[in-house]
Amino acid sequence: MTHYDVVINGGGMAGAVLALGLSQLGRADGSALRIALIEKSLPNHNLHPGFDARSIALAGHSRDLLQQLGLWPLLCDLATPITAIQVSDQGHAGQVNMQAEDYSVPALGYVIELNSVGQVLYQQLQQHSGIELLCPAQIQSWQQAPDQVSVTLNNGSRLTTCLLVAADGNLSQIGRQLNLPRRQFDYQQSAIIANVQTAMAHEGRAFERFTPEGPLALLPMSGERCSLVWCVSNARAGQLMTLDEADFLIQLQQAFGYRLGRMTRAGSRHCYPLVLDEVTRPWHHRVVLVGNAAHLLHPIAGQGFNLGLRDVAALVEQVRQALLSSGQGSSNQADLGSYQLLSRYGQSRQADQAALVGVTSALAILFSNDHPVLAAGRNLGLMTMAACSSLKHTLAWQAMGKR
Ligand SMILES: Cc1cc2nc3c(=O)[nH]c(=O)nc-3n(C[C@H](O)[C@H](O)[C@H](O)COP(=O)(O)OP(=O)(O)OC[C@H]3O[C@@H](n4cnc5c(N)ncnc54)[C@H](O)[C@@H]3O)c2cc1C
Repeated sequence: MTHYDVVINGGGMAGAVLALGLSQLGRADGSALRIALIEKSLPNHNLHPGFDARSIALAGHSRDLLQQLGLWPLLCDLATPITAIQVSDQGHAGQVNMQAEDYSVPALGYVIELNSVGQVLYQQLQQHSGIELLCPAQIQSWQQAPDQVSVTLNNGSRLTTCLLVAADGNLSQIGRQLNLPRRQFDYQQSAIIANVQTAMAHEGRAFERFTPEGPLALLPMSGERCSLVWCVSNARAGQLMTLDEADFLIQLQQAFGYRLGRMTRAGSRHCYPLVLDEVTRPWHHRVVLVGNAAHLLHPIAGQGFNLGLRDVAALVEQVRQALLSSGQGSSNQADLGSYQLLSRYGQSRQADQAALVGVTSALAILFSNDHPVLAAGRNLGLMTMAACSSLKHTLAWQAMGKR
């Protein structure tokens, strides 16, 4: 039976960043925290559930959080800066353009490829003496007791901890077993992702295009490629997935237009069903849910991991404060799974999660609808935003994650 200060189940983006963030903290006597990270798959192929072929956009604020957690220097070489964003509506004139230089920032956001990021994070996890990487492994059973949680793994190892963190994604084994209150909504849509090559260079520009079928984003990537996220009805997604590359490119070109010239290549396509799945109170006795285990969002605004990273940063901050106050004259060691710590964490995350779930759901419904009144309304909205600099600035600050 090995005891850890924190046990994290799931080593995708949220779990891996949390383990590395917590490993920077120490107790007042100088000793490091003991952290275990349990992950079922090794990140050595692009079908890994946490580090697959997806590219995701990080808001500027997320870059700042990764910097605070000591991780940005490891990731910055893998990140493509977004220097401009263009938002447009297919078949309408309304269009909004935002440039990083107008906000005196080097970039409005950054695009990272999860598979490459996974390799770097795992190298760090393996090298860190305070982190025990238990991979491949899964929890077979676990029990909550008043002062600890005990965990048995499928390889027979037994662990105890003051705090069990569920970072095991949307189908979280721990979250489901706790039967926490949830809100779910099926958008009846799927997102198709692929890496695309275009005749013209992207020059750091990101494009969000609303089409009657659903929103389409092209994000700038390394090697002059663009990362496509195309949200369409489930039936249309099924159809697009079966097309050969040439026919897929014709459909994509029709939806996106010629802002980047002719589309010349599309790499392998992957399809994700889109649902909202939110745990409204993401903690329980000595257990907390972070990242996709707590909330699965529609990717329309590219905010899923940005929100998960704010969970991670808030939890690291609560642990840091608990360690600090136990070092200031208290005779007891900090209890990192205490009711006070977890309820403070829960309260600190409530408003952010609720606001983002509301905004992404409203956008997904408004911008995936071809009703003429809604189409006219959103086109008017884009034109108003283009003309009104304060509205445009609000949108730009939102994209940067600064609210
Ligand atoms: C098409 C698409 C585009 C997106 N674009 C953006 C974007 O632009 N910006 C953005 O911020 N977000 C974006 N997202 C969301 C983002 O990808 C996710 O929010 C983020 O990757 C979730 O990370 P996570 O670690 O919370 O969960 P996951 O990635 O699901 O990781 C969970 C981990 O737990 C492991 N696991 C699961 N069950 C067990 C178990 N029983 N035992 C042990 N381990 C287990 C899995 O193997 C996995 O490694 C997008 C999502 C999609 C689908």
